[in-house]
Amino acid sequence: MFSKKCPYCRGKNLYLKQTSLVVKYGCRDCDKKVKLMRENGMSDKDIMKVIK
Ligand SMILES: [Zn+2]
Repeated sequence: MFSKKCPYCRGKNLYLKQTSLVVKYGCRDCDKKVKLMRENGMSDKDIMKVIK
């Protein structure tokens, strides 16, 4: 279940991000960083390590 905390930076600066099928939460603090790292082929695990 989603804890209403950012899984990456553990901040609470979240917003609702709607996609075509599901509602997701995005983080205002690290969303851009996470996206960039994903584009660079990093896994969620790696991203969490970097941001934490
Ligand atoms: Zn975050």
